[in-house]
Amino acid sequence: MRELVPLGENCAYLPGGVNVGVVWAPDGRAVAVDTGGDRDAGRDLLRAVEGRSLRLVAVVNTHSHADHYGGNDYLLRQCPQLEIWAPVLEEAVLRYPYLEPFSLYGARPPQALQNKWLMARPSSVHHTYDTLDGELEVAGLRLRVHRADGHAVRQAAVGWGSVCYAADAFFGPEVLAKYEVPFTHDVAGQLATLKRAESWPYEVFVPGHGPPVSREHLPAVLEANAQAVRRATERVRAAVGGGATSDEVVHRVARALRSPPATPSTYFLLRSTIMAHLAYLLDAGEVQCVVEAGVLRWFAG
Ligand SMILES: [Zn+2]
Repeated sequence: MRELVPLGENCAYLPGGVNVGVVWAPDGRAVAVDTGGDRDAGRDLLRAVEGRSLRLVAVVNTHSHADHYGGNDYLLRQCPQLEIWAPVLEEAVLRYPYLEPFSLYGARPPQALQNKWLMARPSSVHHTYDTLDGELEVAGLRLRVHRADGHAVRQAAVGWGSVCYAADAFFGPEVLAKYEVPFTHDVAGQLATLKRAESWPYEVFVPGHGPPVSREHLPAVLEANAQAVRRATERVRAAVGGGATSDEVVHRVARALRSPPATPSTYFLLRSTIMAHLAYLLDAGEVQCVVEAGVLRWFAG
């Protein structure tokens, strides 16, 4: 059984494939930050919370990727009074998970993309919140929210006391090493988030994936994340070369990876990320895109 690991006063996290945060009030009411990817993750979270004689009353989801809200459905069935909070816009995906593979594919996705990695079970959302820097009062607890968009459209990081639950605002170093092209929705937004995160006022930072990072080590971890994003941009720029279609760019990048995509899901996640880098380069005037005779081609700008 997984157990909560204390991080500070009235706060802890449940380590796992996706780290889940837990903060609680003196009266024992607890709030989770994310819930993991599925029923089992939700069950582990509930057991861990109840094992500390706490009562889970709310969940604050940081963004709408299935591995972060997939435990909601189980928890809502077990705790009908549970209140779910989600960022504006991201909340739509929690309620309609179809939007995730739909957005990656750009049309009705084939069954191969309608799987648990890209679609969790739908979740009610009782409250939405803006991902602006500010406070969020949940179950009597004053949490702090930080804008952390880039990896997801309206990703949030959540702070409590000296602890920041950063979710996928950045990846832990060991996790980052596995992703040659980290998933991103908005390259400029992600780089801006990595810069802003340096000034978030906490001592411990819990990424969604990987062990907690101390304030002392945070700048190096953020820089490693920024370097990974910049390297991905350079891979895409090199793949454009003297001109290429979008698919040619994807295939040139994929061929050079240590572990290229091996399933439709990983292919479309990579493709979406590469399209984000192409948009970033296009908006910066560093590449152009031209449609000729029905074919869209990217060129160096
Ligand atoms: Zn994510």
